[in-house]
Amino acid sequence: MNYPLTTLYPGHAERIPFFHFHPGIRTVSVGTYGCNLNCRYCMNQHLLNEPALFYDLAPEQVADKAAAARTGLISFSANEPAVSFPYFIDIAQAAREKSIMTGCSTNGLFTEGQLIILGSEISCANISLKGPDTKFYREVCRGGSFEQVVQTIEALHERGVHVEVTTPYVPSMTRHGMMHIAATISGISRSIPWHIFRLLPEYEYRDLPRTGIVDMIELKNEAGDLLDYIYLENFANSIWVDTLCPRCGELVFKRVSTGGCGATLFDARIREGCCPACGSPVPFTGEVCMDPGDDGVEKDPRKGVIEVGGWKSVVDMAGCLPAEHDRPAPLDGFISENPYPGDMDAASDAWVTDTALASVDACSPDLVVATYAQCAFIARHREDEQAYREFVGIAHQEIKRLIAETGYDYLVVGLGDMVPAKGTINLEKHIQGIASADDGIACLYHAGPEDAEAVSGLEGVQAVYPRERFGELLGTDLDPDLYGEYFVIPEQGWRFLAFSSVGRFSHRIDSLDPYVPVFTSLAVPPHLSDIRRIVSGAVTSGRKVVLFMVDGVGNRHFPFDKAPVSNSVGGIPYGSTLHQYMVVSTGRTLNPHFFAYPHWKSRPNINPFSRHAPFNSDCLTADLGRSGRTAVSIGNRSIMTHTAFPADLTIECHCTSLHHHGTLEVIA
Ligand code: SF4
Repeated sequence: MNYPLTTLYPGHAERIPFFHFHPGIRTVSVGTYGCNLNCRYCMNQHLLNEPALFYDLAPEQVADKAAAARTGLISFSANEPAVSFPYFIDIAQAAREKSIMTGCSTNGLFTEGQLIILGSEISCANISLKGPDTKFYREVCRGGSFEQVVQTIEALHERGVHVEVTTPYVPSMTRHGMMHIAATISGISRSIPWHIFRLLPEYEYRDLPRTGIVDMIELKNEAGDLLDYIYLENFANSIWVDTLCPRCGELVFKRVSTGGCGATLFDARIREGCCPACGSPVPFTGEVCMDPGDDGVEKDPRKGVIEVGGWKSVVDMAGCLPAEHDRPAPLDGFISENPYPGDMDAASDAWVTDTALASVDACSPDLVVATYAQCAFIARHREDEQAYREFVGIAHQEIKRLIAETGYDYLVVGLGDMVPAKGTINLEKHIQGIASADDGIACLYHAGPEDAEAVSGLEGVQAVYPRERFGELLGTDLDPDLYGEYFVIPEQGWRFLAFSSVGRFSHRIDSLDPYVPVFTSLAVPPHLSDIRRIVSGAVTSGRKVVLFMVDGVGNRHFPFDKAPVSNSVGGIPYGSTLHQYMVVSTGRTLNPHFFAYPHWKSRPNINPFSRHAPFNSDCLTADLGRSGRTAVSIGNRSIMTHTAFPADLTIECHCTSLHHHGTLEVIA
């Protein structure tokens, strides 16, 4: 392996974040491995201390992928670019050959020689100024110096590189210290955007409280005398990610915060570089480049409550915008008092049961969809068979508790075992185009016969199908606007490394079982796709049902008497739990939403929590709505809870790095 690339992920510059640089521009995030600091709060530990998967792409290949993905910017943003500086610069030079810009997010600890090179090779940098003095750097970051980072900001700003600054707001940092940082940036230019990042409990700071959002707002107000553009980030539904005119307060750029770093551009009202109301200049670099945003996905007209730990807000699901409470939300108090404990916490599955029982008390729904995903999280991220078995036992107890306490009929489906990861199929290294993949299936875009042939010969590949042939096997037409030219199926235990892979290493992956176990008081479905019909029929005939989806548990460990249910179509097993959720919900296979590549949109027509719209109105929960029955959906497989089972009431967790972030409740 020559090129230590660990990250190759599509997105927009606002997610890096760059808010004043070519607003709305598509970018490919790249990164390698390691850092020159060891911050006690680091959120990227998996890129520093865990095993990594490497794409091994030469700089020219990285530039080719970015061009194939129609991006204008490559952002070196996953880890510290200084640790792979020559590779970073080679990528920048290869990108320039294709008229693609390069930027980075960095801790700013470059040598003078590196700064000179950066000044001529990159277009933008988001520099993290982590603390108010070198003492802070020594104690919290275990290296670095305040003065050196400030020099980097000054040097790149003077050399014409577009500069934005980020500060993680550590709870132990004083207001005085944060104001010193604001004054320092202002001394260089009061127009430099300052991103204040809410620190979540991570790594050695896991026991610290989250930074208070009220505290962040007060800081923003105080520092507003020093800096024109201050943004508050890393919590869902932040309304402080918009750009307002510093002179008259008019909205200039509207953004949506779905949590995490940065935001998504929603609307650009700027007029020839100026405020649309008072005409004052609003400095930003480059052109506004927004995609047309609407892919016809049905909007959700409801409102959601987002509770992110110490702060609660309401969001208009249709517009993805902050809204007002206009009626009391069911379980409003419950979700504040019972925060999701985190994917790796022993109480995670108990949270699902407790929350489902509270929803039954509150609404007496006809259907409860309850997803228990903790066994899968443990199997993926811990190499500990004993722990896995303990968590299967917990899931068993929690499912039995929900059945007993509701008295509902039940259908429990185990979505399959997790098998040890045998190896990785590095698709990107071997194709000219780009690939999108889940466990169990990959789709190749901009790919020709030579790509198919190259992939066919790779170890771990079971079959490669042209799109039309694959559609025949599935018994469905595959829209060429949504799906690439080829589909790839792996052998058992092999995972893909593709353009949109989540780079985190997994000890185990989803298995490719042709049958999965079901335990039910209803009729046994012959196939996963029959579950929709059976559950819908039972509920519309007046029975109350809990549908349990249990991730990471298959025939080997299923803790109930089991009936085997077909888990394949056209001879191809559903290898990914994501697809299984869709099949259970809709009775059909394949969902283009989880092939991310064709779905990048600047303007969200999407769920404000996860950015995935609910699947469609042709699904199990929609059946019930049409017959006047009600459904709630509760789960710790966060995105799937609302995407596959859009319900009258949805309560799901929202996590970063497997830890607790918050809870979303959709108000009926
Ligand atoms: S500089 Fe960033 S990646 Fe490096 S240790 Fe600190 S937080 Fe982690």
